Amino acid sequence: MTDLAATLAQRIRAHGPISVAEYMAAAAAQYYGRRDPFGVGGDFVTAPEVSQMFGELLGLWCVAAWQAMGAPARFVLAELGPGRGTLMADALRAARAAPHFLGGAELHLVETSPVLRRRQEAALADHRPHWHGRLEDIPSGPMLLVANEFFDAMPVRQFVRGATGWQERYVGLRDDRLALVLDDAVSEALPAAPPGSVREVSPAALAAATAIGHRVAQEDGAALLIDFGYGASACGDTLQAVRGHRRCHILSDPGEADLSAHVDFAAIAARASGAGARVEGPLEQGAFLRALGIEARAERLMAAAPARAATVAAGLRRLTAPGAMGSLFKVLAIAHPRLRLPAFP
Ligand code: SAH
Repeated sequence: MTDLAATLAQRIRAHGPISVAEYMAAAAAQYYGRRDPFGVGGDFVTAPEVSQMFGELLGLWCVAAWQAMGAPARFVLAELGPGRGTLMADALRAARAAPHFLGGAELHLVETSPVLRRRQEAALADHRPHWHGRLEDIPSGPMLLVANEFFDAMPVRQFVRGATGWQERYVGLRDDRLALVLDDAVSEALPAAPPGSVREVSPAALAAATAIGHRVAQEDGAALLIDFGYGASACGDTLQAVRGHRRCHILSDPGEADLSAHVDFAAIAARASGAGARVEGPLEQGAFLRALGIEARAERLMAAAPARAATVAAGLRRLTAPGAMGSLFKVLAIAHPRLRLPAFP
């Protein structure tokens, strides 16, 4: 049993079962708070860690979106959950071609993990970043925002369709160990589904989508959310735990395994457009990166450093191929309604 499992068991014994979302939030705080989980020696690999091309192309997307905004002299450049800071470092390097973009950008990072804040500080020191614990704390003004694999870490509530109606899944105790239990009928309005279906709802993700949509519609700007998930809301038990690149049970190692769930892009899009923003996509990551010219970028990198050609080619494949990250990962843009956005038809 991990120390967090023991703490949670004690809390459940005293106060009763906790929702899956509460469990996920407690596990994520400890998981990210204590380690750098990325890379081959860690638990999982994200797109910016696969290839520099990912961050570079996102940087060029930001420059083009900034031009569409009328090239404001000062603006907020924000990232949610920057991990090691690799994406933003690559993006800012690519943006050197646009000195007025770099000169006007004020960098704001939303990150709760002290360990990862230190990594980001090392990667981005030249750009003097400001850190915040919450999206709402980013100062006002025109904003460009990116978030890669941030929304999949947002806690989800899980609802299970029983014979007569929906019930919420909770984490309780069985034989003194953490166990999934079902609560009584719920009042939540959920669409019809056959018995046995599981539906996931992330209140934190929906609140963030509303806040981003409201902000870009009121103060100008655009946001790019990249994550794995489904385009149309669907049922499915997608909450998963990964430790050392292997799946494990979601209750087996709280705080030691990464917990994530598929992102419901349709629900996020609905909240953002309800807040007054224009929503584009989701596009599949492969199509999005190809539209931004990843193939030409790969060719240039291979020509410049033939010794690294195989690595570049492998990165290109992994980021864009349908069986790899190309189709499971999707890109959603949330923007001020007047903006025409690069890469979106
Ligand atoms: N974007 C990075 C890292 C993705 S992992 C990449 O692509 O490599 C998720 C990131 O979000 C981590 O930096 C984690 O510490 C951060 N994070 C998770 N939950 C958070 C929360 N509720 N508030 C702020 N940051 C969070």
